Amino acid sequence: MNKEAYREWLRNMELLTRHQRKVAISQLNAVNSHNAIIEELEKNNCHTCPHCQSERLGRWGSQSGLQRFRCLDCRKCFNVLTGTPLARLRHKERWLDYNQSLIEGLTVRKAAERCRVDKTTSFRWRHRFLTNMADLKPTGLTGIVEADETYFAQSFKGSRQMPRPPHRRGHASHQRGTGDNQVPVLVIRDRHGATTDFKLTAATQVEEAPIIAQVIASDAVLCTDGCASLRGAARLSGIAHRALNQSAGIRVLAGVYHIQNVNAYDSRLKNWMMRFHGVATKYLNNYLGWRRGIERWGQQITPSVILQAAMGSLGSFQLLMQT
Ligand SMILES: [Zn+2]
Repeated sequence: MNKEAYREWLRNMELLTRHQRKVAISQLNAVNSHNAIIEELEKNNCHTCPHCQSERLGRWGSQSGLQRFRCLDCRKCFNVLTGTPLARLRHKERWLDYNQSLIEGLTVRKAAERCRVDKTTSFRWRHRFLTNMADLKPTGLTGIVEADETYFAQSFKGSRQMPRPPHRRGHASHQRGTGDNQVPVLVIRDRHGATTDFKLTAATQVEEAPIIAQVIASDAVLCTDGCASLRGAARLSGIAHRALNQSAGIRVLAGVYHIQNVNAYDSRLKNWMMRFHGVATKYLNNYLGWRRGIERWGQQITPSVILQAAMGSLGSFQLLMQT
């Protein structure tokens, strides 16, 4: 818009009715949000073709505000979102707002209301934004490392076909840690706060040992409640192990060996998850990653951190932890 037309436009603003003003403000906000998100997205430069990994790229116009590229080798077009879980999601101008609702842990319905999208979109966005975050896990846990098994009720929420008859409301589910209707999760946390977790098919030493060997530094000391599976897993992985005998009232050994941090983490996780009224087991990893992100980034978490995580552009979790 040239200067003169712009002045005219500003002068005419006075003529707007109250309703028109409201619409105009929300339009301006949308333009602002759209520009903000494009800026965020384009922090991630396209260096290689997502189809053939070629580095010979040419610019090829733009589409919905994003620079498009064309690969000079395979001749396919793409933008910075191609190949990420965010590809082809609409209403970009509402993404940062949506990510704020992830930070606040809003339910699907509340997030939908806030971002003026329908509930199905809200649900789809949730899991698209969380996919890559679920894979961001620290390794190299050091010093005193606490591990614990925790359980989530198996849920086929949202599935069209249930492999078992539905529960009747009001009937208590099976007891903790027993039966086939519980999904075990191994939670591991060191005293620096680095936390990781793994959904298991069964809480056995055979499943747990390779995980422990992979994520815990070889000179660390593992603390557990001394259950058979973790005891066996520690032995198999060759990590030094201190077992608390909690049923005998022993909660701390030598003043430092305890599992209070991992237990506290478990209970924060459980409390936080209560708002979702049971999560589908197939999405459990996404919820675990969501919670880890909230805890790990603490006050530093912002909608743009979530966006970068969702695009898979946080190279390594460690890298982010140092910033
Ligand atoms: Zn290519």
